[in-house]
Amino acid sequence: MSTDLHDLSVAQLAAKLAAREVSSLELTQHFLARVDNHAGLGAFLATDREVSLAQARAADARLATGERTPLLGVPLAHKDIFVTRDFPTTAGSKMLENYRSPFDATVVARLGVHGGAGMVTLGKLNCDEFAMGSGNDNSAYQPVQNPWDITRVPGGSSGGSAAAVAARLVPAATGTDTGGSIRQPAALTGITGIKPTYGRCSRYGMVAFASSLDQAGPMARSALDCALLLSSMAGPDPDRDSTSLDLPALDYATDLIATGAQGTGVTPLKGLKIGLPTQFFGAGCSADVLKAVRGALAEFEKLGATLVDVSLPLTELSIPVYYVIAPAEASSNLSRFDGVRYGHRAATYSDLTDMYKKSRSEGFGDEVTRRIMIGTYVLSHGYYDAYYLKAQKIRRLIAEDFQKAFAQCDIIAGPVSPTVAWKIGEKGDDPVANYLADIYTLSSSLAGLPGMSVPAGSGEGGMPVGLQLIGNYFKEAQLLGAAHQFQLATDWHLRQPTGI
Ligand code: GLN
Repeated sequence: MSTDLHDLSVAQLAAKLAAREVSSLELTQHFLARVDNHAGLGAFLATDREVSLAQARAADARLATGERTPLLGVPLAHKDIFVTRDFPTTAGSKMLENYRSPFDATVVARLGVHGGAGMVTLGKLNCDEFAMGSGNDNSAYQPVQNPWDITRVPGGSSGGSAAAVAARLVPAATGTDTGGSIRQPAALTGITGIKPTYGRCSRYGMVAFASSLDQAGPMARSALDCALLLSSMAGPDPDRDSTSLDLPALDYATDLIATGAQGTGVTPLKGLKIGLPTQFFGAGCSADVLKAVRGALAEFEKLGATLVDVSLPLTELSIPVYYVIAPAEASSNLSRFDGVRYGHRAATYSDLTDMYKKSRSEGFGDEVTRRIMIGTYVLSHGYYDAYYLKAQKIRRLIAEDFQKAFAQCDIIAGPVSPTVAWKIGEKGDDPVANYLADIYTLSSSLAGLPGMSVPAGSGEGGMPVGLQLIGNYFKEAQLLGAAHQFQLATDWHLRQPTGI
């Protein structure tokens, strides 16, 4: 039985391209047909067949010269928060409807076919408006369906990226994570995603939400595929993002590729200490998720790792702290959308103030408006000390707690999300219900630590469950290595939604 092209991983597709068994043009046509056939999922906000085919021809031309770089000619798609020259960029908002950037984001350029790693862009992926949300139901365009059960959310805010990879409409995608938006949708759709250390990937050309938290990362089906993408995405960008880390880009994939399948009884993770924060395993997490996570951890023990208890006492405070700091930064970042320099402008208005008011009221959705108001409030004279400054102080304490925990372990593990994917509309208009779902991802974001989600089992309704692995600063390679060993020993990342 022949395997369909869309069942292959990034690494397998790259090998086929390098052996000239398939051309980038053929691959691109194949995946674009799938994108068209599954338009009902709502994963894509923009495609442009001619642009993608032209990029594929450019990749094929590079292959024809004998160039053999690991991603050359492999299709991908970008979360619609990255600006792109060749496609429109909306950030999931009516504010930026029909906006087209004159340049590519650094991450897009590094992965792309114009002088980058040579990946072919299939289009732009749906997301919550300005990356604010946990279910992709805050997109101004359409909600995204979870391919495992189309009545459920795919998670958010990178929900289009997650759904597209899980449905095999594209072998890999970019995402961004401010408070969990790579890890949580990866968990809810059964794919693998990594949020690197803050600053590892350039933020240049990422529509800004909360600048001290925003971080780009890859989403794919396996740790190896994520490693392949991250190797091209990461690296300093000193002229364009002053917060990008001054550390050389690493090759995250070669060591993983060198590790073949292990026989039973082999313990490649011997010596690795995995810390389990008591606060991540309490009553707040549903029983099905806990069961799957514990099952995955038992597998890590079989691979030689030891489990130790650690404590992250301020975990609960990460929700109020994040929901003060992120809106504060958002209120500042979103002030540039005024209908003059950028974005939607109201058709009629009486004067300048009225124009700002109408343009912003029409352009921004409810959640974005709510956050601008909260952010403006917590930064205002008289409230700054009580809310914003206090939150910043607790943020520091949260980061310090992680360092205390890392004195006892190498990696911290737990659930990504307290439940499996919920039904579209289930949380209604209650913003707090969405905020609470971020409990396990926010603290590491506030600390700027790398974290990943690894498919680890299934829960209620057969829905995927993700295991979260959090590393210390700059330890992406260690996280990817541990996840890769787990994926050599298990097949959760290979399971697919049926009927897609
Ligand atoms: N769910 C969180 C929020 O709504 C995180 C979003 C993100 O990481 N972009 O802010």
